[in-house]
Amino acid sequence: MIIPPGHEFHSSRGAAQLSLKKISLIGVGLIGGSWMRAIRQANECQTIMGCGRQLENLEKAKQLGVIDDFTHDPAEAVEQADLVVLAVPLGAIENIVRKIKPVLSSKTIITDVGSAKGSVVDAVKNVYGFVPTNFVPGHPIAGTEQSGVEASFVTLFNNRRVILTPLEDTSEQALNLVKHLWQVAGADVIEMEVKHHDSVLAATSHLPHLLAYTLVDMLAHMESNSEIFKYAAGGFRDFTRIASSDPTMWHDICLANDKALLPILEQYIEQLQIIKEAVSNNDSESMMKVFQHAKESRDKFVG
Ligand code: NAP
Repeated sequence: MIIPPGHEFHSSRGAAQLSLKKISLIGVGLIGGSWMRAIRQANECQTIMGCGRQLENLEKAKQLGVIDDFTHDPAEAVEQADLVVLAVPLGAIENIVRKIKPVLSSKTIITDVGSAKGSVVDAVKNVYGFVPTNFVPGHPIAGTEQSGVEASFVTLFNNRRVILTPLEDTSEQALNLVKHLWQVAGADVIEMEVKHHDSVLAATSHLPHLLAYTLVDMLAHMESNSEIFKYAAGGFRDFTRIASSDPTMWHDICLANDKALLPILEQYIEQLQIIKEAVSNNDSESMMKVFQHAKESRDKFVG
């Protein structure tokens, strides 16, 4: 492993380990909190400084031992940090990068956990005019429908994928450090090109969230909604669990990844038209073809 400048080895658990002096976590919620818990458990950092807007959430984070201290000011948070982690909703990233830029040391490595990558890269470019080589865009493919630090847990990334989307000139040292810190959280780290990441995630994550929200919204507007929800069974719960996710976060993701999301949404609308035709024509063959192919595919890839 490449050791970033200013970082040292110690051997508190017998084996040599990398010890970062300070990580700044901007956005102390489910994802950032869970990653910090894992980094802390692996003894990889001496101090974690949290930053957010709500005092109650930050106090809770300190009480839970996720962070050592906190501030509401992003610029103050990143002073002398070895690593800055941006774990806020996508719409907040550019503003935060603008605030921290004047005080960031050139040695500080920066990463993020945002669910779309093109918009994060654009946000950084808008502030710097380019993407600094020590910035490593990242996205853990793990989460729950809960938010806030109280929802965070140490094993969230265990055996889950994390996608890093380094650019051509991203520093290898920065990339290796971020990769290592995800690996100590139990994640399987892979690399992908930014655009490819955004189109894959539009299909596998962003579209399903959009569908779940829209379905629940539609049913909740129906006059008989209390009856509908009263008799909703397992299938409804399975399909709509993700509609309990944080609306701000998903609003930001849909705006941030609209270019990749719209074509797949169009494709899905066409598919719905096809199945509508099949139902209205009692076309068993077409219906069975879709259901059978979907079952086989899901059993193979997800089961
Ligand atoms: P979360 O639990 O709501 O945590 C986000 C934290 O950011 C909150 O604690 C909030 O604290 C802070 N925050 C929100 N808006 C802010 C703003 N404008 N300025 C400064 N701080 C702000 O959300 P999360 O699930 O951890 O998601 C964080 C990021 O991870 C998002 O970019 C999301 O796309 C990505 N992600 C989420 C999942 C998932 O399943 N949840 C999975 C992968 C990636 P305050 O309100 O106190 O400021």
